[in-house]
Amino acid sequence: MAIEITDSALATVGIVTVRRALPRRQRRTVGAWCFADHMGPADATPTHGLDVGPHPHCGLQTVTWLTQGEVLHHDSLGTEQLIAPGQLNLMTAGRGVSHSEEATGSYTGPIEGIQLWMAQPEATRNGDPAFEHHAQLPVLDLPAGRATVLVGTLAEVTSPARIDSPMVGAELVLDGPSTVGLDPAFEHGLVVLDGAVTVDDAPLTPGHLGYLAPGRGQLDLAPTPSARVMLLGGEPFPEPVVMWWNYVARSRGEATAAHRAWLADDGRFGTVASELERVVVDLPPWA
Ligand code: MN
Repeated sequence: MAIEITDSALATVGIVTVRRALPRRQRRTVGAWCFADHMGPADATPTHGLDVGPHPHCGLQTVTWLTQGEVLHHDSLGTEQLIAPGQLNLMTAGRGVSHSEEATGSYTGPIEGIQLWMAQPEATRNGDPAFEHHAQLPVLDLPAGRATVLVGTLAEVTSPARIDSPMVGAELVLDGPSTVGLDPAFEHGLVVLDGAVTVDDAPLTPGHLGYLAPGRGQLDLAPTPSARVMLLGGEPFPEPVVMWWNYVARSRGEATAAHRAWLADDGRFGTVASELERVVVDLPPWA
């Protein structure tokens, strides 16, 4: 089966325009990956960055990966973490966590990157929240480029970051034709951040998701110079997920209960030390 290409949706998060590659009507998940926002570039000042105030999550892990700029993360576990390009912020929501994404107080310049969510499986989705920062990640050398492994395993190179189901997330920076070994049990998605890559004779550019069905043992990419592409993969997620706002649940009722807890500020999602306003939206239409 050849690569399947879908268009990303344009959306606004905080003050930043994003290209949302997941979820789309045609493709809700790739492995456990259930959300992919290519954000920016946006202009940050010491007092204005992503400017996303405290908001809740449950049932998922968030991956923050920057290609330009700096962002300050705060969460309800008490974490304060500056993130820069090449570093990974990985937050595990479990039954509930909240966080903000703020200006650093010093950085001026462009911000660009990708925000990803992984659905947590039944075994961990009601567990404790957690946060990890990885300043250094393993790199796989490719024929004409390199792959930084954010999470999971790519061609026997494994990230130290926590994952809750079999998967991979990697950033490929390519200067010429390259081949990457894949786990044939995984389905994969490609999101181009810079330049373009050709896969199966189809050009893939920013603003799209390229989907590869399970069964591939390798991926052949023909890039423009300095192309940057995210490779996301995993075993097809075995449980149907219900996503609403910032929650990954298994039913509408669960999502509604989570949102009632956030609106009531009843402690489930904790408190973030932030000067930004808590993000509040109405209950879902079915509630
Ligand atoms: Mn978030």
